[in-house]
Amino acid sequence: MFKKQLAALLAAAAFVMPMAAQASDHHAGDAAVAQAFIKEIQTDQNAYAAAKGAAFFQELSKGQKPRATVVSCSDSRVHTNMWDKTPEGDLFMIRNIGNQLATAKGSVQYGVNHLGSSLLLIVGHSRCGAIGAASGDYSSLEEPIKKELDTINIAKGGASIDGVKANVNNQVAAALKEWAAQVKNGELLVVGAVYDFADDMKQGAGKLNVININGETDAAKLSSMPVPAAKAAHGHH
Ligand SMILES: [Zn+2]
Repeated sequence: MFKKQLAALLAAAAFVMPMAAQASDHHAGDAAVAQAFIKEIQTDQNAYAAAKGAAFFQELSKGQKPRATVVSCSDSRVHTNMWDKTPEGDLFMIRNIGNQLATAKGSVQYGVNHLGSSLLLIVGHSRCGAIGAASGDYSSLEEPIKKELDTINIAKGGASIDGVKANVNNQVAAALKEWAAQVKNGELLVVGAVYDFADDMKQGAGKLNVININGETDAAKLSSMPVPAAKAAHGHH
């Protein structure tokens, strides 16, 4: 029990401390880091553009038909390259602290209702600072941050990974409520997953563990569950 509380406390501290430090830490060192980084970005970006080539960008310019709308946490350790090598034009990305629908509803609606994504994927992750903060006392944080944590409905003082899973399940439940008809018709699949770089779920470090498909959370059923047929191909691939 103590170990769990300590883990939750550390996670919360990791979330709060950089936030508090940023306001007073604008010394010369930071500018040097930023300048070096922007150069690095330019180099990497030029290489990316050259490698992809004109035809690739011409195709992108025609418009987007993302197969998936993805709600993931903003955490810097979480990126699509761990599960999709070709996200361009394919993933409509929404990122916020705690991978929430409530704090980015319009963006999620846009992906599902207007871009016609047939998959809504919600991605939580191990050692999430937002979950750590939400499971403890975050009353000293900035008002806008508090507001974004208020919509994470998880138990106080629980183990971090339990909070992560509970939050992902909550987000799936909210999505199933919002798009009940589409899910029923097989037009939309709502999937909740946890990117577990810390191997807190003991399924292997770095695995993206699917924990919820259209409200089904039973592990045995999930592994054998046929994925409902999506309504129509969007002609993307
Ligand atoms: Zn997070």
